Amino acid sequence: MTPIRFRSTRSEQPRISFREALLQGLAPDGGLYVPDTIPALEASTWNGAADFSSLAQNVLEHWIGTDVEPNALSAIVRDALDFDVPLVPLEGGEWDGIHVLELFHGPTLSFKDFGARMMARLMSHFLRNEQQHLTILVATSGDTGSAVADGFAGQSNIRVVLLYPDGQVSPTQEQQLILRRPGVTAVAVDGSFDDCQRMVKEAFADPALRTRGLSSANSINIGRLLPQMLYYLEAVRSTGLASPVFCVPSGNLGNLTGGILAHLSGLPVGQFIAAHNANDFFPRHLTEGLTVYRPSRRTFSNAMDVGVPSNFERLRFLLHPEELRRLIHGVSISDEDTLVSMRRVYDVTGYVADPHTAVGLEAVRRYRNIWGDEAPAVVLSTAHPAKFPDIVRRAIGITPDVPPQLAQLQEAETHVVHAQPEVKALKEILATASDERFS
Ligand SMILES: *Cc1c(COP(=O)(O)O)cnc(C)c1O
Repeated sequence: MTPIRFRSTRSEQPRISFREALLQGLAPDGGLYVPDTIPALEASTWNGAADFSSLAQNVLEHWIGTDVEPNALSAIVRDALDFDVPLVPLEGGEWDGIHVLELFHGPTLSFKDFGARMMARLMSHFLRNEQQHLTILVATSGDTGSAVADGFAGQSNIRVVLLYPDGQVSPTQEQQLILRRPGVTAVAVDGSFDDCQRMVKEAFADPALRTRGLSSANSINIGRLLPQMLYYLEAVRSTGLASPVFCVPSGNLGNLTGGILAHLSGLPVGQFIAAHNANDFFPRHLTEGLTVYRPSRRTFSNAMDVGVPSNFERLRFLLHPEELRRLIHGVSISDEDTLVSMRRVYDVTGYVADPHTAVGLEAVRRYRNIWGDEAPAVVLSTAHPAKFPDIVRRAIGITPDVPPQLAQLQEAETHVVHAQPEVKALKEILATASDERFS
């Protein structure tokens, strides 16, 4: 199969390989990498697969072609995607016909595990072949950091340094971040998230550091996007649902962009719903045609607190304005309605949703009431409720069951370095952490 070439959203040339797009992250012109052409897949590509990892391999082969040999790709996929992706049907009253696609059974209990684990293994594969080394530097305020730390831990030729604001992440998030992992250094910065981001930016601007191989692993990397197509196909493969409505709790729109890529390559989808919290830039763009950015606001579904969604540029590239508005219905849900949604679904069906999933459940409920669309609907569940015990308790008065991934953290060994909010401190850490391990 001929591998797909990638180009920047901002210029037609150059057209580069998947490997180059993956290792570069952001295009030199500041644009995001997008496929130059989209492979047309037969339904048998997903429906004919025996299980999720075979599906993943069948589909990715059409994108990556021979850039990664089939045996290597098979090993990467089986190692990265070694957890369940169940589709749970809700039952009772207005919830009949609505399914929850649980994307939170990976090691850090959020859907970010799909992208981070695949990206890490693909990068490590290319670097090992070329005997290169890379340091991944990330500033994080929560979910992304632990998914990246887990995804890259123990991968050869790569180490991770991740910065978070000391005392400003939840206790569970902090436990997940400071878990001792091979090749990972967690840095608690005596400052804010903005300080962490500034330190990372300054490190990237430093020529001496750049030549030593620094990279970021943020949500704009194409290596995170391709794996985020796969579970849309899996939902259809495992149930035979025809042209479902997919409802996606959204922030930076990376998850939704994965669904759009799946659809453009052949998956029949009736409608996409972009479910946002009070950060309503995208729903407003869809209904009013405005492109007005506002600073992000804090909500209960904090992984979706994004003022300027980075993948908006990709969506505008992939779809014409009319197509965008026809295919995607945007909804914004307040914090108050997020709690009501958690209660409503729990009371009728017994299902315990996390606040991000609750935004999606309320969005699909409203969509069905307004449009009378009774097609089967799939709500992507992006995080495990046990990551947000306080909000769940406040909404429905019970404490969610703690899955083994979290229970183990209580006894696990931790490792954290403290730093002042200056790039000088980060440079010292980069110099010493380099001796630690490049397995
Ligand atoms: C990152 C995240 C989202 C938002 O996903 P995007 O791809 O940024 O739209 C939603 N829910 C959870 C739990 C997340 O971690």
